[in-house]
Amino acid sequence: MADTAASPAHASPVETDAVVIGAGPVGLFQVFQLGLQGIAAHLVDALPHLGGQCAELYPDKPIYDIPGTTVCTGRELVDQLTAQIAPFKPTPHLGAQVARLEPQTDGRLLLGLSNGVTLLARTVFIAAGVGAFVPRTVKADGIDPLVGSQVFYHPADVSAATGKHVIVHGGDEAAVRAAIEAADVASRVTLLHRRDVFQAQESDLAQLQSLRDAGRIRVLAAQITGVETDAAGRLVALHVMDANGDAQREPLDLLLVYLGISPRLGPVADWGFAIERKQLVVDTATFATSQPGIYAVGDINTYPGKRKLILCGFHEATLAAFAAAEYLTGAPVALQYTTTSTRLHERLGVEHH
Ligand SMILES: Cc1cc2nc3c(=O)[nH]c(=O)nc-3n(C[C@H](O)[C@H](O)[C@H](O)COP(=O)(O)OP(=O)(O)OC[C@H]3O[C@@H](n4cnc5c(N)ncnc54)[C@H](O)[C@@H]3O)c2cc1C
Repeated sequence: MADTAASPAHASPVETDAVVIGAGPVGLFQVFQLGLQGIAAHLVDALPHLGGQCAELYPDKPIYDIPGTTVCTGRELVDQLTAQIAPFKPTPHLGAQVARLEPQTDGRLLLGLSNGVTLLARTVFIAAGVGAFVPRTVKADGIDPLVGSQVFYHPADVSAATGKHVIVHGGDEAAVRAAIEAADVASRVTLLHRRDVFQAQESDLAQLQSLRDAGRIRVLAAQITGVETDAAGRLVALHVMDANGDAQREPLDLLLVYLGISPRLGPVADWGFAIERKQLVVDTATFATSQPGIYAVGDINTYPGKRKLILCGFHEATLAAFAAAEYLTGAPVALQYTTTSTRLHERLGVEHH
């Protein structure tokens, strides 16, 4: 899939027939079913990559209950779903959280994304799972304005550390890998974690130890208590408290934070839907919410007998797409088979046999 759509912040809204919120397995299949109905979609996810829980929580674990697939890993399922939606070319907005969802007087729906992009949609499909996967942040006064310039949460690579004095903050695999990679490019690397104990693969821990022995990575067991900026507002030092309770000042150019990624329901709870135990109540004929034009599929919805399974989400997405097609055209939509329908073959870009 193409890179994240780059629309200038605060430009006029991008108009579209459909927006899918959440690129987990159900959101991806929603794009597919909309494509079969001839509806092009924008696809938004807080994560910088596709796949939701499958990609974030269990990429290498096996799944055995996808119909017709004996076994596949979380990552393999995401790869298959991504290939399946390729003909429909959804417009991706990755690394962006939907912060606002507001019905307009004409019945359309205005979505405000955390990256400043706004979308004006005729239908919205909430496939938000257990919430937006967002990085855990450092709680320290004055740190927020530095995010994006000298403070980065879970950056995809450490190229920003080139030639800099960098502090990598965290204790898991991602933090250890970032410190190892930064040691190749940065002028100085400190790995800051509350304890001198790290959770990572044996090979990474061994590499970390040899870089420590060579003096290329320094480990600091401490907690951040504050940030120090200069007159121009630039970050110049962290204030930390070490394991003995002593305060220290740690100069730096750049802070890379890897404190893990966790789901937060966040704004979905504030959009005015009928909600039961943090899930959106839907009509099982259409998977419509209490708000016209808005559907909810996958782990985020609830109805009598609901099971949080991927295959149930696939069924929900299918019926939601039919319902949305009827909502958009105002006419009944006939069932067609992908095996035999010329129109579906055209939409899929496959040869008719
Ligand atoms: C360890 C584990 C093993 C599992 N094994 C199985 C199994 O074997 N079989 C099975 O059927 N199911 C299994 N499941 C459950 C399955 O993963 C879920 O049912 C499935 O992921 C739900 O898909 P979804 O698309 O609804 O939501 P998710 O996969 O949760 O994806 C939702 C996406 O929406 C994004 N999002 C949410 N809110 C916003 C917002 N406001 N703005 C932008 N993005 C947002 C999130 O970042 C996320 O990427 C397992 C789950 C776990 C944790």
